[in-house]
Amino acid sequence: MSGLYILLFFFPRFLNLGVKYFMGHKFFFKSTFAPNREMILAFKLSFQNTIYMTFKSLGLNESILKAIAKKGYTEPSPIQGKAIPEILKGHDVLASAQTGTGKTAGFTLPMLHILAKRTIDRKRKIRALILTPTRELAAQIYENVKEYSTHLDIRATVIFGGVNQNPQVRTLREGVDVLIATPGRLMDLKSQNEVSLRDVEFFVLDEADRMLDMGFINDIKKIVKVVPRERQTLLFSATFSKEIKKLANEFMQRPVFVEAAPENTAAETVTQIVHPVNRTDKANVIVKLIKDGDWSQVLVFTRTKHKANRIADKLKKSDVSAAAIHGDKSQGARTKALAGFKNGSIRVLVATDIAARGLDIPLLPHVVNFELPNVPEDYVHRIGRTGRAGASGEAISLVSHDEEEYIRDIEKLLGFKIPKKSILGFEQSPLAEVEKLEAELTKKNGGNNNRRKPNNRGGGGGGNFRKKSRR
Ligand code: AMP
Repeated sequence: MSGLYILLFFFPRFLNLGVKYFMGHKFFFKSTFAPNREMILAFKLSFQNTIYMTFKSLGLNESILKAIAKKGYTEPSPIQGKAIPEILKGHDVLASAQTGTGKTAGFTLPMLHILAKRTIDRKRKIRALILTPTRELAAQIYENVKEYSTHLDIRATVIFGGVNQNPQVRTLREGVDVLIATPGRLMDLKSQNEVSLRDVEFFVLDEADRMLDMGFINDIKKIVKVVPRERQTLLFSATFSKEIKKLANEFMQRPVFVEAAPENTAAETVTQIVHPVNRTDKANVIVKLIKDGDWSQVLVFTRTKHKANRIADKLKKSDVSAAAIHGDKSQGARTKALAGFKNGSIRVLVATDIAARGLDIPLLPHVVNFELPNVPEDYVHRIGRTGRAGASGEAISLVSHDEEEYIRDIEKLLGFKIPKKSILGFEQSPLAEVEKLEAELTKKNGGNNNRRKPNNRGGGGGGNFRKKSRR
């Protein structure tokens, strides 16, 4: 009898201690009690809770669980496991997560759960606003929201620029609960009184770092002024600069911070390699790598739109199907290129950073940095296109002499050196020889080939290479 009494008295405490241990407090083994059966049971229970977290255990409703099951997700990703409970509790959430970590479902699922709990007026009003930097990302989030809300009475739509506004306006007039938008088109339609944000309960800023990079800060500030103060704000960002933290301070109420991977780190599932090459050889090297490796799906990054076009043309001439995607392409051409790349009819997609932002291409095996980005954080974004949702991938960088300082900055950010390997037949020549060759080329072309001097970030016109190049 006294044994039972002791058990009833101590069991809840042991359980609590076990849970605390797995929440990061190492009380369990520091306990003055020697482990006994109850402690071991508590340990097992808390262990199971931690390891076998399910979408159901997060408390999401049946309709959402059904939609998740249809997508084939078996368990929440780390960012989902951390963000969903906080959002369900009604907190503002500041999340550090790269694309590919499942962050979209991380904010969409709990948001839909909460929206579905509340009754809907006969006339639908925008209750959730999701702002994204690019059209592609907006379209992707819209697809996800539609899939996750299949069994709910929730209507969503997406608005972005570059296409006729009339169909978007018609849908908005019919009434929607969730609006996914890029800032420009949203501001446009708002100024025409086609959008009312008075009833917004959820305000989501996705890829906030990129929105700031793209100069949307003033639009964001204007939008924040017209959404109600009483709201839940969720901010997702791959990197957390001082500016993002400032933005969060201004717009969020005591946010809970969650992160999937340490700040500014690349996914561990990505194998990274640097191939030192001459700049003039890069186009031939890329054709060789794709053909020799028989790569079926490759995303290639260039710094400029012009270079993206040139590489796509070069690949096509070498019988490798390719398309370029960048800001000068029409929305129709961008959608077509992306669809072709996803369905396998286009083997190589050549993109600038902004155009590629947020593209969700499952299980992308190869990413090639034809040119390194001049902002190290962009390297992390780029290679985030591969090794997604736990799959492995390879990120290859073709690095010429003039990019050596960039690779050093990238390695500093990553905290380790990326392995280097020369390509047989395309070994990098000594710097002097390359400079001679390029000077000859420049002369032959009768002009300036715009080559930056190595280790001279400032370039010729007092420009600052830290600033984004035109993309
Ligand atoms: P995101 O980071 O939101 O762009 O998601 C990256 C990819 O992961 C998308 O293809 C999602 O469909 C997929 N995904 C999201 N959550 C899960 C999950 N829990 N299990 C498996 N895949 C997921």
